[in-house]
Amino acid sequence: IEEKSLNFLEEIVENDLSSGKHKSIVTRFPPEPNGYLHMGHAKSICLNFGLALKYGGYTNLRFDDTNPITEDTEYVESIKNDVKWLGFQWKNELYASDYFNQLYEFAVKLIKKDLAYVDDSTSEEIAEQKGTPTQPGKNSPFRSRTVDENVKLFEEMKAGKYKDGEKVLRAKIDMGHQNMHMRDPILYRIKHAHHHRTGDKWCIYPMYDFAHGQSDAIEKITHSICTLEFIPHRELYEWFIEKLEIYPSRQYEFARLNMTYTVMSKRKLLQLVNENHVSGWDDPRMPTISAVRRRGYTPESIREFCDKIGVAKRENLIDVGLLEFCVREHLNKIALRRMAVFDPLKIVITNYPEGKTEILSGENNPEDENSGSREIPFSRELYIEQEDFMEVAPKKFFRLAPGQMVRLKYAYIIRCDSFVKDANGGITELHCTYIPESRSGSDTSGISVKGTLHWVSAQHAVTIETRLYDRLFKAEDLSQAEGDFKEHINPDSLLVVPKVYAEPELLKAKGEERYQFLRKGYFCLDPDSKDGKLVFNRTVTLKDMWAK
Ligand code: ATP
Ligand code: MG
Ligand code: MG
Repeated sequence: IEEKSLNFLEEIVENDLSSGKHKSIVTRFPPEPNGYLHMGHAKSICLNFGLALKYGGYTNLRFDDTNPITEDTEYVESIKNDVKWLGFQWKNELYASDYFNQLYEFAVKLIKKDLAYVDDSTSEEIAEQKGTPTQPGKNSPFRSRTVDENVKLFEEMKAGKYKDGEKVLRAKIDMGHQNMHMRDPILYRIKHAHHHRTGDKWCIYPMYDFAHGQSDAIEKITHSICTLEFIPHRELYEWFIEKLEIYPSRQYEFARLNMTYTVMSKRKLLQLVNENHVSGWDDPRMPTISAVRRRGYTPESIREFCDKIGVAKRENLIDVGLLEFCVREHLNKIALRRMAVFDPLKIVITNYPEGKTEILSGENNPEDENSGSREIPFSRELYIEQEDFMEVAPKKFFRLAPGQMVRLKYAYIIRCDSFVKDANGGITELHCTYIPESRSGSDTSGISVKGTLHWVSAQHAVTIETRLYDRLFKAEDLSQAEGDFKEHINPDSLLVVPKVYAEPELLKAKGEERYQFLRKGYFCLDPDSKDGKLVFNRTVTLKDMWAK
């Protein structure tokens, strides 16, 4: 067995456990409930829950809901659903908004230590005071307010005495600090807005930096894992811990997941939804967890993908082909084999009795000996794919051509004797004969053929709709693509095939089952299906169609 080397976070955790710094570890997954989770979040979920599982700790699900304007309970529900679907169970379901009282007390503590002050400057003035990375900032004219004055003003802010933007609470650190985040950052702003959990109780809300680290400390998170953009925030994170004398959670950063041919930002995904470029958050072309679930990806394959890409310390771009590879590998093991004809060509078996139906047996999944078999009706008139016949065939065409033989999967060897053309020269029908002794499983014909075709019995076929997907964007690396990201949308990312002829077994399709349509790809039932109109999504093709 190949021993996988530890990633840098596992190394840190192992050191912390062996040195006795921690007896066990606590991680958290902290989504802001302002959109649906995407594959980047899946990476973060696998990492946080995975570490805790591996080292016998636990993970909290914490909703980082400090911004009342963009947050919604709809998103909370979808996030919980997605985490569970990925196969993880959180220890505690928590909300940063539950800490609003405690965070307020923390702020008062800083004020009393003369480490925070109420500032009447406008946001433009504050931006101006900040300076630039190469130029020191300058102090706000309100920086020298007394502790008593600040205590009183902050209470009044909380009591609703001031309008939005009239005042903020800022940390008193150093306007000449090398790190811009340390130049008297804003801790609280006034927002007279309804919050999805606290209602109208609060009109001041903590900023991300003041809420996140303190929430970690309240929950005694040992390892607070975030993405690389937060490296410059770490100093502030530690400043709050020191000055507030609270539990010393530690922040660690890893590279966010970026994938080819897609965007991974809730803000951009929301635009695609709102501007109807897709049918919704769960449109199977989206990179959201709800979309890939609807498309037929399995949680196992997503976890495998997250494991394969590992944990990097530098930004990178992962080929979406790797995700598709993981999906294919898993679906090959679990998908039930079925036959469906997308572009039908009728064939008549001229030596097969009219009106006769024979029930053949087809294994459900050759990769799984416990999967059993299904019944497949065979009769005189069948459909195969148009592309499986050529009037004048090149040498290596092992499908049907005049005089050529193939095997029909699970059935018989047939030979093409003649064909019928319409007025435009299109092939409308083949006339074939079958070899009665060649039945699959009891073949005594002694004939060997190179090609095997999928087919359906014309009289028994059911029609289904299928939806075939291509990349949502044409550009490989959207972070490097010019102009607005929406200019790179692929106009041909969805192909609906309204009438596909399928074997009748598919009438029993279930949402949780996965199918391989022989030679056509992996498919699953879409929730748009109704009685009498089944809709299938192509999850992924059988082979990498984009391989160079
Ligand atoms: P977005 O930019 O899409 O809105 P976000 O980081 O603002 O994402 P949050 O809900 O705040 O979304 O993120 C929850 C957790 O998921 C955070 O810990 C964040 O670091 C992590 N995360 C978000 N996007 C990615 C990504 N692309 N790769 C890895 N982790 C991510
Ligand atoms: Mg965020
Ligand atoms: Mg964001």
